[in-house]
Amino acid sequence: MKRDGFCLVCEDPRHHACAVCCRRCQDLVERVETRVGLAFSAGTIREALRRSWDGEARCFRCEYTGIKLSDVQHHPAELVFDHAGPTKSDGLRITARLINCIKTTLSEAEFYELVPALASVLAGEGDRDALEKLVYAHVQRGRTPTAEDCETPDSQGS
Ligand SMILES: [Zn+2]
Repeated sequence: MKRDGFCLVCEDPRHHACAVCCRRCQDLVERVETRVGLAFSAGTIREALRRSWDGEARCFRCEYTGIKLSDVQHHPAELVFDHAGPTKSDGLRITARLINCIKTTLSEAEFYELVPALASVLAGEGDRDALEKLVYAHVQRGRTPTAEDCETPDSQGS
């Protein structure tokens, strides 16, 4: 919903007459826009933030898990932006720093396949060979995660 004078993401009052967002949301949009190579439009970033915003709880939520996100830098639940897949057309997701570290360079589909397989193996019930196949398939595509996939100096996701 779009209301005059209110943030396009969270519907709080806009921080400036010419602005389209409140200060908090504008800061989040600018944080992503300035990241080299990400190249998502401000509109795409606002749309992702709008999907993530929980107006009743007045917080952003992880698009993968639904957990409440933090605005504290380097907190495990800090709001970070994630490439849903290897290409720009795969889109942008909002998630928690720790969840993004777990996802690294996995596509959404790979992430949703790997996590339950891992959980089953850790619980002693899973198919270790199937998990091994998933892990090796990822490496064979030349997308071995690096330290940068988990930790970036400016608090951004991968
Ligand atoms: Zn806002």
